[in-house]
Amino acid sequence: MRLTFWGTRGSIPAPGPDTLCFGGNSTCLQLELDGRQVIVDAGSGIRPLGLALLGKVKQVTLLITHLHPDHLMGLPFFAPIFDPEMTILVGGWPNALAGLRRLFYSGRPVGGFPVPFDELPASIKRGPGLDPPRFSLGAYQVRTAPLSHPQGSIGYRFDGPGGPLVFITDNELPPQGVPPHLVDFCRGAKVLIHDGQYLPSEMGPYRGRGHSDWRSALALAQAADAQRLILTHHDPDRSDDEVQDLLDQARKHSGSLAVDAAAEGMVLEI
Ligand SMILES: [Zn+2]
Ligand SMILES: [Zn+2]
Repeated sequence: MRLTFWGTRGSIPAPGPDTLCFGGNSTCLQLELDGRQVIVDAGSGIRPLGLALLGKVKQVTLLITHLHPDHLMGLPFFAPIFDPEMTILVGGWPNALAGLRRLFYSGRPVGGFPVPFDELPASIKRGPGLDPPRFSLGAYQVRTAPLSHPQGSIGYRFDGPGGPLVFITDNELPPQGVPPHLVDFCRGAKVLIHDGQYLPSEMGPYRGRGHSDWRSALALAQAADAQRLILTHHDPDRSDDEVQDLLDQARKHSGSLAVDAAAEGMVLEI
């Protein structure tokens, strides 16, 4: 299993000199599983991923966590949608395909990407067997879990060679303790990637917005006996130095658990 982070920023892309280290693109994760190309979320990070894939692969599976703009906005600029030999299987979140379709011109007098969805050269369709809560991708069993987020979101667990890998973004863990169903979902993860947008001291005004602080993500990873925690969905207003400070705080409390912050271009082979 090979993972590459193409977008690690939450809420909105935040390019600029202060985000060069951890990255300014919004959520996009590339997984190479058993020879298959799987992409989780189509944030702005999917644009450079598309350039890397163009002409090299003919099929990708695109799994969507939910329909907020920072997780969809990159699709119109994903170059493979203009490749007539490309097939894109869209799954995960219910109505993911309908959510992506809404980004494109539909004939109504409203804003939208100027090329109509139905005129895109690539074949973009619902992937078979991708209904939650579980399905298989080659040698991998994939499970989903509902998350705590306004309008909902889903996490993914990939069991198979190199795994388990768990990817949970846009999830607010409650202050009173980690939910048992998520502990089970993350149990024994070799790598747990989790929303760590905030510092614990920042959570007050952001309760109910659907994101977590590093301390609650750490508690989940420890309760589930995960081997490694990678914090992601970095706040758009947080500079590289501030993300590093957040990470340093988390590491002071992590004991034997390895903790990192996701960075654009980070590659893991597990
Ligand atoms: Zn988000
Ligand atoms: Zn969201």
